Amino acid sequence: DIQLANRVQRIKPSPTLAVTARAAEMRAAGHDIIGLGAGEPDFDTPEHIKAAAIKAIENGQTKYTPVDGTPALKKAIQAKLKRDNGLDYEANEILVSSGAKQCLVNLLAAVLNEGDEVIIPAPYWVSYPDMTLLNDGTPVVIQAGQEQRFKITPEQLEAAITDKTRVVFLNSPSNPTGSAYTKAELAALGEVLLKYPQILVASDDIYEHILWTEEPFANIAMACPQLKDRTVVVNGVSKAYSMTGWRIGYAAGPQRVIAAMKKIQSQTTSNPCSISQAASVAALDGDQSVMGPMLKAFKERHDFVVNALNDMQGVDCVTADGTFYCFPNVAGAIKALGLKDDVAFSEHMINEAGVALVPGSAFGLEGHARISYATSMENLQKAMERMKKVLG
Ligand code: PLP
Repeated sequence: DIQLANRVQRIKPSPTLAVTARAAEMRAAGHDIIGLGAGEPDFDTPEHIKAAAIKAIENGQTKYTPVDGTPALKKAIQAKLKRDNGLDYEANEILVSSGAKQCLVNLLAAVLNEGDEVIIPAPYWVSYPDMTLLNDGTPVVIQAGQEQRFKITPEQLEAAITDKTRVVFLNSPSNPTGSAYTKAELAALGEVLLKYPQILVASDDIYEHILWTEEPFANIAMACPQLKDRTVVVNGVSKAYSMTGWRIGYAAGPQRVIAAMKKIQSQTTSNPCSISQAASVAALDGDQSVMGPMLKAFKERHDFVVNALNDMQGVDCVTADGTFYCFPNVAGAIKALGLKDDVAFSEHMINEAGVALVPGSAFGLEGHARISYATSMENLQKAMERMKKVLG
């Protein structure tokens, strides 16, 4: 047999994509399944963004671009980071990649040696631990349960740091919980990190614009300016502009780290898609009010789903600050149904209620489920009714 590399054994396929596949399979077999597993907005990409892509094709922008992104897109990203975040970056402090996901993988590949530790607050986005393992790092998970609104404390952060810690992940607003850190909370985490100059922060801001708190969005570089030269801000157009398929993300951070990430990208995938880059310029420079109706819909669905969940036996759901996810505690329901764990709960829900959701353990916190409300209100109403019938 052909040998497979050890690194393949270290990682597992994405469980969220697995749920989507399972739901599709059951649908194909004739079952009526409502998918609440999706990790992407259900809206179409705005017209002016599509038009920019079509124009780029017609203008012949169909060739290789600079590895780290076109000058026009880098300029639009610089302007965005200044406008929304008050952060200044030079062009050589920015790298455009094929999605925020590639930015994060480039980052870990650029800074980790074998055995280096990466702090990952749980519940976490499913890919962080596997990306770390793929790049020879060791994930160090901090548990942040519902009682602390799924956010780590400065004390927990300090306790997790060792002399092998190289990277700390922060994701606010969070996939899977929808919780966002306040600026003051980030500043308090920053106070701890200031004591450890070898640590780099990976700030995953991909849900920045899907936020409904009174306080505006903040990341750790904004909350703690002294940490800016040790923070890599990662963001993209996928979630904000409903552009998941276009595959454009970007990283902004210290020049030396960005240059290393660029070097890796130059020997792996080269530049991201030229047409998608042109579309992303239109997204970032264009009318920002296109996000308004999407945000409004997500908030309305959030309110509906959280209320409906809290009306079910054995389910307890805290409100989210943003994103299109909530992360109910279903421990009571698991017990009442005589099930083993949250994986069995998800199985039960897809089989008995025809509702596909992702078990919390996929995100590092058992006894929960992630519900995505990136689907129509009609689907959500039907899904909540069916779940309630099964749970009482
Ligand atoms: N970071 C988080 C927390 C996400 O949820 C996702 C997508 O699900 C990404 C990054 C990846 O985004 P992109 O589509 O830009 O690769």
